[in-house]
Amino acid sequence: MIAITAATLFTPLERIEQPLLLVEDGSVVEVTSRARRETPTGSRVLDFSDGILAPGYIDIHIHGGAGRDVMDASPEALPEVERQLASHGVSSYFPTTVTAPLDATLSALARLADAIEAPESESSGLRARPLGIHLEGPFISPCRRGVHPPADLLTPSLVAFERFWDAARGHIRVMTIAPELPGAIEVIKEAAKRGVSVSLGHSDASLDAARAGMAAGGRHATHTFNAMRPLGHRDPGILGEVLTDPRLSADIIADGVHVDPLIVELFLKAKGPEAAVLITDATAATGMPDGRYHLGSLEVEVKDGRCTSGGNLAGSVLTLDVAVRNVMKFAQWDLQNAVRIATLNPARVVRMNNSQNQIGSLKPGGRADILVLSPAGEVRRTIIGGAGI
Ligand SMILES: [Zn+2]
Repeated sequence: MIAITAATLFTPLERIEQPLLLVEDGSVVEVTSRARRETPTGSRVLDFSDGILAPGYIDIHIHGGAGRDVMDASPEALPEVERQLASHGVSSYFPTTVTAPLDATLSALARLADAIEAPESESSGLRARPLGIHLEGPFISPCRRGVHPPADLLTPSLVAFERFWDAARGHIRVMTIAPELPGAIEVIKEAAKRGVSVSLGHSDASLDAARAGMAAGGRHATHTFNAMRPLGHRDPGILGEVLTDPRLSADIIADGVHVDPLIVELFLKAKGPEAAVLITDATAATGMPDGRYHLGSLEVEVKDGRCTSGGNLAGSVLTLDVAVRNVMKFAQWDLQNAVRIATLNPARVVRMNNSQNQIGSLKPGGRADILVLSPAGEVRRTIIGGAGI
């Protein structure tokens, strides 16, 4: 038994002072405080003094890092991405595909399914775990495609969806789709039926088309404001729906580059601590010097914190720990709420904060995915499934 203590703990819904967190065999056994419970005799005590304990971060939209893309065929690619994620506090992630030629997408999905099904190995360092796949393309709008290659976009169809589903062996947990495309409603219904979190995005939808996407099973929105029809005060469009419908969670790239800090603040006011989610949309260039990298089959260039392709923004070099601190800076949120939108909220999007899958909060029976943060939100220690203690 390991007994972990610090100044404060965020479950993240609850705040516990002088916490006592008991961990055994990679799982959380008890979450309590030193005032309520004695440290069990014989347990190993870890005291993080003025630190804050929180659940591990969860990134549901990430393409790569450390010079590697999650669609790379190299067996070294995912472990390198995963080690970098762990160093920034991410314990679980959802590798995200970009639109690519069909064969490249199908083989990437099969490799990602292999990684998700692989037993955890302790031999290659502390690594974030892939828990499911985010299929970002190809069912996206040609006029809001961002840098997704136009030649490889597909009109949504059940036949195409089935091919992706089979290649991924059912591990697609999030799918970004533009609801206004012909065939989209049918695909949204089928994906939602299979437990996929359908995320509206890369979309030029009118308000009515966005609402039809919601009625069919849409529950989330992808990088709000980016690759989305802009908000018009007499033509609210998809953004009007995303910002006002409380049933819809939504994510944002809070790097201050993709969306102005003031608009991040506006977004957080609209969605609140209940429905806002932080993502990185990070590319291979994350954590690397300026230069040229790959995003799926695209070449991207990084200079001064901007990742571009042909002059357009092409993913980010953001890490989730920085996004959490940016939320405190841009919107004056406290650390507890900022942590919530990088832990519990993304876990709910992928439906993994329940009795079968316990990620995103610290509670008995859950995975021991634990962060030790400084009061300013810097990651001091990442513990994944009990490893890293
Ligand atoms: Zn992306």
